[in-house]
Amino acid sequence: MPLIMITNDDGVDAPGLRILAEALGTLGRAIIIAPERDNSAASHSLTMRRPLRVREISADVYAIDGTPADCVMVGIKKVLPARPDLVASGINPGANLGDDINYSGTVSAAREGTLLEIPSLAVSLATANGEPCLYPVAARQALILAAELLERGMPPNTLFNVNVPNRPAVEILGRRYTRQGRRLYDNAIQETFDPWGQRHYWIGGGTPRWSKEPETDVQAVQAGYVSVTPLHLDMTNHQVLQGLLAK
Ligand code: MN
Repeated sequence: MPLIMITNDDGVDAPGLRILAEALGTLGRAIIIAPERDNSAASHSLTMRRPLRVREISADVYAIDGTPADCVMVGIKKVLPARPDLVASGINPGANLGDDINYSGTVSAAREGTLLEIPSLAVSLATANGEPCLYPVAARQALILAAELLERGMPPNTLFNVNVPNRPAVEILGRRYTRQGRRLYDNAIQETFDPWGQRHYWIGGGTPRWSKEPETDVQAVQAGYVSVTPLHLDMTNHQVLQGLLAK
């Protein structure tokens, strides 16, 4: 029976995590190892200046007082009874498209799984602000992809970044394999003043502008498709490298 590690960046109590574990639990033994608290936008940070505590919450559910990457690293090396066959991260309430990938804790958890040579995927639900999250729709898509990955495996050094439109299953038009687009934010830094008149800056929110290039993750989700982007650990720009070497 496959062993599947489930994690996220929203914390162990997040509804998307439990629904993902339930769905993938039909494929094998799903064990949750997730951060104690919300770690959204934690990216791939590791906790190195203090020890980490693993808390067993119930059967096959663990919380670690660290980041998503901590959870995957410590989870795989110290908590799980064996090497997992799959790492699944999510379901994040909010898309991880284009430039978001650089900041995403959800994607970084899957990236850590890939660094440890386990087939990994990150699953996010592309919601608009305040909209109710249709987690079961994304869970169903995650289940289909996870079954495919368990059967066919994953090319080395590659993870899947999956974004599901937040719409009823009948309104999802299909799956598209995509490349990473650009998702740019206007007014992403709010200026506020504390009671003493001191100016502060608050990062978050902002209005996303969507890049218009074809075949991107951004475009597929906007058009109503499940976007599956194969991300590579190697961030080298090979085209530029070839040019530099040719000089
Ligand atoms: Mn999150």
